[in-house]
Amino acid sequence: MRYISTRGEAPALSFDDALLAGLAVDGGLYMPEAWPVLSAAEWRRLRGSEYADVAAELLALFTAPAFDRDSLRTLCRAAYARFAHPAVAPLVQLAPHRFVLELFHGPTLAFKDFALQLLGLLFERVLATRRQRITIVGATSGDTGSAAIEACRDRANLSIVILHPHGRVSEVQRRQMTTVASANVANLAVTGTFDDCQDLVKAMFADRAFRDEVHLSAVNSINIARVAAQIPYYAWAALALGAPDRPVAFAVPTGNFGNVLAAWAASRMGLPVARLIVGSNRNDILARFFLRNDMSIAPVEPSLSPSMDIQVSSNFERLLFELLGRDAARTAEAMRAFRATGRMPIPSSVWQEARRLFAGFALDDEGTVAEIARTRRESGYLADPHTAIGLAAARACAPEDRAIPVVVAATAHPAKFPEAVARAVGEWPALPPQLADLMTRKERCEVVPNDLALIKSRIRAHALRNAA
Ligand SMILES: *Cc1c(COP(=O)(O)O)cnc(C)c1O
Repeated sequence: MRYISTRGEAPALSFDDALLAGLAVDGGLYMPEAWPVLSAAEWRRLRGSEYADVAAELLALFTAPAFDRDSLRTLCRAAYARFAHPAVAPLVQLAPHRFVLELFHGPTLAFKDFALQLLGLLFERVLATRRQRITIVGATSGDTGSAAIEACRDRANLSIVILHPHGRVSEVQRRQMTTVASANVANLAVTGTFDDCQDLVKAMFADRAFRDEVHLSAVNSINIARVAAQIPYYAWAALALGAPDRPVAFAVPTGNFGNVLAAWAASRMGLPVARLIVGSNRNDILARFFLRNDMSIAPVEPSLSPSMDIQVSSNFERLLFELLGRDAARTAEAMRAFRATGRMPIPSSVWQEARRLFAGFALDDEGTVAEIARTRRESGYLADPHTAIGLAAARACAPEDRAIPVVVAATAHPAKFPEAVARAVGEWPALPPQLADLMTRKERCEVVPNDLALIKSRIRAHALRNAA
């Protein structure tokens, strides 16, 4: 499989090159040259396999020739062996035709582990083959840092440094990053805001000499390998519920549009998906688009579902590219207009085409708390605030044919967002056993001033120490 840019001005790359590149040089996102399509018989053959094996079968279609099915099977088994539930992605029934797909049994209790645990292993392999080393540097407001650290810890040829705003991430989030006792992991707590951290990282990437010196890299959410690695759990859930002989719908709490895009890809690969329901919080740009073709930027407002506090959903560009018939020039033009005016011009016919599959739904904080309480009351299930938005979206936008099962992507464990859950149900959700001692583990973190030169010297020292 080769990968092409949504903006059409970058060379097509192999899987391993696209993996290492992340973003295309023309500012576009990589897409497979063509989506692989499985026949009904091929889908049926996957039923009953273990999660890691389903993942390997499907991902091999994207990774050849860099990784074949056998090497992927080994890597997927290693990646998903770290998940705390033996089913990896268990499907839990809440009501007739209503399910949650629990995507939070990975090391950091959120769905990003599905892609990142595998990406860490893929990076390690490719770097070893090429005899390269890289230093991954990222900024986090709390949520994504731990998933990146857990993906990279103890991987050969990789060092990772994560910047977070000192005193501005929750204690659970900070401890998930700072208690990782691996030599190749470093945490810097910057006295400043998340924006300061992001500006520091941007400045480092803009500094050519520094970038080359430490072989700077990122594990961006726009990496096509991350999208691909999220497809298998949608297939797995659909197969368990009778696909390809029975349609399913998915409701996905959405921020950067990466997770729900993988569900869309699963439908492109031949699974019968009746509807994709996109759930937003008060930052509702995606819901507004799907409801009334209004994709216009508003200021980001903090909410109880912080992983969805996003206004520009970078992976939406991939859907746009498809909706525009893979016309890269038109995609580039729409993105340029969006950047310039804060409003995405999408022809009505294209929007109507999107509406055939997608529905949009938004819920504010009050509604989110009420949904957590209602779900607990009606089914006994404890949902985190992100999942709760998916549950409410599923109820509001389920297909007219009520016999079609609706699967809600449960993107985080309730113990990851204990304040919101406690507000809804009056009890503090317990951390799962593998993290039960998190609050007493030893932390490793250096507090540093918002000083680019000093932070660069820390990163340089960390990279050198690990290369030695
Ligand atoms: C990242 C994240 C999301 C949003 O996922 P996207 O792929 O950005 O749409 C939703 N919920 C949780 C818990 C997350 O960590």
